[in-house]
Amino acid sequence: MLEEGDWILIRFGEKKYLRELRPKDSLNVKKEVLKFSEILGKPEGIKVGSFEIFKPTLEEIILLGFERKTQIIYPKDAFYIAFKLGIDKNSKVLEFGTGSGALCAVLSRVAGEVHTYEMVEEFHRLAKKNLKRFGLGENVKFHLGDFLEAEVEEESFDTAFVDVRDPIPYLEKLHRSLKKGAPVGFLLPTANQVVELLKSMEDRFGGVEVLEIMVRHYKTVPERFRPEDTMVGHTAYLVFARKLTA
Ligand code: SAM
Repeated sequence: MLEEGDWILIRFGEKKYLRELRPKDSLNVKKEVLKFSEILGKPEGIKVGSFEIFKPTLEEIILLGFERKTQIIYPKDAFYIAFKLGIDKNSKVLEFGTGSGALCAVLSRVAGEVHTYEMVEEFHRLAKKNLKRFGLGENVKFHLGDFLEAEVEEESFDTAFVDVRDPIPYLEKLHRSLKKGAPVGFLLPTANQVVELLKSMEDRFGGVEVLEIMVRHYKTVPERFRPEDTMVGHTAYLVFARKLTA
């Protein structure tokens, strides 16, 4: 049932709107009006005129609801990362930097516990706010500070993901923080950064893989079914590896 204060995802053709359900509000698109008072108490998935009303998925919450002050990891990459790192409800996950909290929200959904480090207070606060606003992140410990200076128990994390401009200075500490054989991932926007990381990882990490994820959306009109005219060509390279034990 749709209740006051719920977050709702409204579809109008291809357009998507994320709104909080407040009885006095309405949405006006192409001269059609959806009065929120009319959908209170109704089931999810109802159609009112051309409007379709659903509860939002995590992807929709991140893309439409999260305030961004840093580059974020897009759901297409974040969802893959969460499963590629083998995360489940028993996993204790390390992440830095937190940024706007987009990856953190995904990690939190699948992990047992997430420890995320952010050294800029403004972003640390923003990530906390983004997750809290949507009822996410109860299993997240948000640390304010440089990961390099943080007190981290040795061999305490089941996995880690690193999204900072240059991950190389952190490799030694990262290695110490991970359990033996643990998977780790990095996101890097440019190819030369990947090459430098590969050179620096050799002695501490094995099973290395580099990949990128391309998603092509299609027009959903049955009579004209074909790919969308434009697509995102590149977000970032993803580097995955496993901790080697000396
Ligand atoms: N993955 C995040 C998301 O999906 O919203 C975005 C991360 S953003 C690109 C990189 C962040 O790392 C920045 O907010 C930066 O301040 C933070 N950062 C860089 N070096 C750091 C360090 N040594 N310790 C903690 N945070 C760091």
